[in-house]
Amino acid sequence: MASKPKLSTSQIVHPDKDPVLNEENPFDSMMSRFDRAAELLNLEPGIYKILRNPEKQITVSCPILMDNGEVEVFTGHRVLYNTSRGPGKGGIRFDIHVTLEEVTALAAWMTWKSAVVNIPFGGAKGGVVCDPLKMSMGELERLTRRYTVGIIQTLGPDSDVPAPDVNTNERVMAWVMDTYSMHVGHTVTAVVTGKPVEMGGSLGRREATGRGCTIVTTDALEHLGMHVSKSTIAVQGFGNVGSTAAKLLDEAGAKIVGIGDRDAAFHNAKGINVKQAIEYVKQHKSLKGFKGGDEISGADLLTLDVDVLLPAALENVITTKNAHGIRAKVVCEGANGPTSAAADSILDEKGIFVIPDILANAGGVTVSYFEWVQDRGGYFWDEKTVNERLIEIMRRSFADVLALSKSHKVNMRTAAYMLSMSRVASVHRLRGIYS
Ligand code: NAD
Repeated sequence: MASKPKLSTSQIVHPDKDPVLNEENPFDSMMSRFDRAAELLNLEPGIYKILRNPEKQITVSCPILMDNGEVEVFTGHRVLYNTSRGPGKGGIRFDIHVTLEEVTALAAWMTWKSAVVNIPFGGAKGGVVCDPLKMSMGELERLTRRYTVGIIQTLGPDSDVPAPDVNTNERVMAWVMDTYSMHVGHTVTAVVTGKPVEMGGSLGRREATGRGCTIVTTDALEHLGMHVSKSTIAVQGFGNVGSTAAKLLDEAGAKIVGIGDRDAAFHNAKGINVKQAIEYVKQHKSLKGFKGGDEISGADLLTLDVDVLLPAALENVITTKNAHGIRAKVVCEGANGPTSAAADSILDEKGIFVIPDILANAGGVTVSYFEWVQDRGGYFWDEKTVNERLIEIMRRSFADVLALSKSHKVNMRTAAYMLSMSRVASVHRLRGIYS
């Protein structure tokens, strides 16, 4: 690859995209990291152009008969960013803030995520502009089915395999699967992942992302000469990813000294009783009022003096405004895009070891891949097998990224982008340009 022509700055800057970072914009954040990796890889201009553009963007209007008898028209998008390595893989979100640009950025993200753990998927994402909290179950079902039919041409186990995302769940995936199956005339379980277990979902899927975070955190601590059983950890976000990671790290002997969610955050130097906190959230829907520690602000949770900080809530929580204050030795990005690109160099200067999102939270897509494999084979694995195979893939991927980071003297994020982009680029070179 060293012999490939190096891109000049004018080649690597998209003509109609401002190269100056908007710290708040996850698309800009992601693309600036993409550009840096492209430069280090000496990516040839042709491949660069292919990887910087989405393969297919679909926008559909979904007219729905609402419960009050009126017709509303909702806009839905599905983007296949790159399918050179396999079917598009990525969730469907229902949210009022969905835009085509955001869906495209998330689809690109899925491309790199699937490639970094080396599973045979490309990247895709979908979204419908709606406020699901204001809709009845019947309205949501009609919207899901109409949107599915709108994008049915791209869907299929060999072409595009959705999953749950923001405000969608197993229930919604069951409707997508049923609608698709009705149209093709037979049951096709492998068209979506994240389904209920009784209709072809995988055991272990619900815990997979948090479990993946635990595996790479353990390996990162080991790499730094520390041990998980002697570490202290703060977790932001106490939903699927955060609470599972906290529970598994606690079981591995770590001391969880800080937790927080949308409503409250807590510190307990002696260690928070994670099982109690999970029970509390089950009953109260949030950590507000939890008595297992001293209440602190959400901002203070991020700057606790801990070995590991695990942001597992939202994007853009570590920015130039607070990065200087982060005291953790390891940041494990359970959430997508929790660190702005502009904050990367501050964390680097402070010597903080960041496990980037596309690696840290890839446990979810990895077990989605297992679900797809099980559906296609019609043979289902026990949970122990799922978890063992997840450990194998996460540990191998962590080692691959670490090796590249050492050999190229770059941080883990740049190494993860370089690894995944080189895998996608290599398939494009082998397949050639069909024109
Ligand atoms: P979730 O909805 O189950 O939990 C989100 C948690 O974040 C909740 O505890 C919520 O209270 C908290 N939160 C929301 N706003 C907050 C704020 N302002 N400050 C602090 N906490 C806040 O979601 P999840 O599935 O756990 O996903 C969390 C993150 O992980 C998201 O970025 C998601 O995209 C990413 N992710 C999830 C998966 C998965 O399999 N669930 C896979 C990959 C990435």
